[in-house]
Amino acid sequence: MSARERLISHLSRYRSIIPDFDSFIDYQFRPLSPTIRTNTLLLEPGELASMLSSRGMRLSAVPWHPWFFRVDDPGQVGNPGRTLEHLLGYYYVQELTSALPPMVLSPRPGDLVLDVAAAPGSKTTQMAQMMRNSGTIVANDVDYRRMGALRSNVDRLRITNVVMTRNDGRRIQSSVAFPRILLDAPCSSEGIARRSPEHVAKLTLTQIRGLSRLQMSLIRRSIDLLEPGGLLVYSVCTFAPEEAELVVDHAISLGMEPEEVRLPLRSEPGVREWVDERGRHYRFSPGVEMAVRIYPHLNDTGGMFIALLRKPEAR
Ligand code: SAM
Repeated sequence: MSARERLISHLSRYRSIIPDFDSFIDYQFRPLSPTIRTNTLLLEPGELASMLSSRGMRLSAVPWHPWFFRVDDPGQVGNPGRTLEHLLGYYYVQELTSALPPMVLSPRPGDLVLDVAAAPGSKTTQMAQMMRNSGTIVANDVDYRRMGALRSNVDRLRITNVVMTRNDGRRIQSSVAFPRILLDAPCSSEGIARRSPEHVAKLTLTQIRGLSRLQMSLIRRSIDLLEPGGLLVYSVCTFAPEEAELVVDHAISLGMEPEEVRLPLRSEPGVREWVDERGRHYRFSPGVEMAVRIYPHLNDTGGMFIALLRKPEAR
């Protein structure tokens, strides 16, 4: 079987839950233009656009987020990560769907935020901008090598409100509870097939199930670390209900209250039922449909699942 056929065969497990499935498959093979986020701590989006245009890059504004541009043509540099402006921290190369979980968590200046799986820092650095470099973000990850990339991105963007920790997220200890937590969990990454089709073509059910167990442990610990009344955003760049609704269902069974996810682009609700390729029938709790599924063919992006959960106030 060719890689293309293996990719289609793998994604076909979602045929019953993805609307306009043929178009969904068609988009897996369309190239995805890179997108960049202005570092608003250092300059305005308009200033960045003029600098990069004078270098021969062709950009178009993203209608639903003023900080972002699509790179329609990188010009002579060939890669938007290879300019002096990038080195100076004026922008960050970030896929559009990656910008959504921080928008849902919506941290404000002065807040305290825990980012449980933060490296290489796309969302940590975006949240630092949203917080105008004030308050504190505890940016944690388990992977030492990836934490190097996180550190270098935080330094490059001249961010000063981030504290880095290296822990297994299942065992983070903290003397304070957090009012806002982002759990952008390790996942099977099916939503990045437009950039890495080989990765998705090779995925197995065993891997997906293993990740689902890890995600459930991570969300349990995140709930423990959340203060009563606090908000948790759970996100994965994948489509597997085992890694999406099943994990949210687990959080709901532990008392978390789902809230509506509102986004300025097209999405589908979380699914309430699904039958996997072995005939196992999943039925998820009411409330999982408040989460959102972003498919590549809806907005010409990658893929993402995002849920917003509130911890009940202590009684
Ligand atoms: N949030 C990051 C960003 O926006 O740049 C991307 C995070 S990536 C989807 C998932 C991350 O989870 C990886 O960096 C990986 O090293 C980390 N990870 C995997 N297992 C973990 C664990 N047990 N505890 C904490 N982090 C873990």
